[in-house]
Amino acid sequence: MKEMDVLRKNLYESRYTVALCCSGMLAEVGRPSMRKQSRDYEIEKKYGHSSEEMFSAACFSTRPEKFFEFYKAEVLPTENMHPGKSYECLRILEERNLIQLIITNNACNYYSKVGCKNVLPLHGDIENNVCINCGKTFNAEYMAKSKGVPCCDVCGKLIRPKVVMFGEMVDNRMMTRAINEIAKADLLLVIGSDLGSPFAGRYVKYFDGRELILINQEESCKDRVADLVIRRPIKDVLCELVETCWANRE
Ligand SMILES: [Zn+2]
Repeated sequence: MKEMDVLRKNLYESRYTVALCCSGMLAEVGRPSMRKQSRDYEIEKKYGHSSEEMFSAACFSTRPEKFFEFYKAEVLPTENMHPGKSYECLRILEERNLIQLIITNNACNYYSKVGCKNVLPLHGDIENNVCINCGKTFNAEYMAKSKGVPCCDVCGKLIRPKVVMFGEMVDNRMMTRAINEIAKADLLLVIGSDLGSPFAGRYVKYFDGRELILINQEESCKDRVADLVIRRPIKDVLCELVETCWANRE
């Protein structure tokens, strides 16, 4: 059977499908992961520090000017950055009841932006920002438009993006939920990461269902764990699915 037929068959047969969407999805909007060597090198050249240092809780609390210069330019989406076709496809697959949950480490929550309903953003969401003093919340637009360091319009104190920075732990309840969801899935789709990456590796080990299918172009020796690996561009695979898979059950 051809790989796309296997993927379709599994999507139809699965009662509960989880899509684990990783950093490769970010490349779809034109911004590769900060963990990618080429981007990390560019960042180091531009800021004099690695992305790990710039996007850290230590930098946020000790050098907020530097932190927000970096955050606004490298983490928040720019005005002409739009979720691409791949995100739209995931929404359609969710609407057709072929995907039940999206778990992601991407804090620029493009999934919700295009209308996906069931999303678990493990690394937080750039839309959630909170004053460290009074707890007032602010959206990403407020953060992007503020001059210099974003401050609360009520008490004047610093606002913290509720995203997981380098060196920080994922919220415990969220992590537990992600593990439980993956454990109960029949089908796990890992999209945009090899299975050797720390993020995918951490969660994939809890999968106990029938099929683990990986959609990713780059290879790792850990990919052997997958039942099927599709090494084609994410967008091509998802678009083809949307064109050829119809709604599943009611
Ligand atoms: Zn405040």
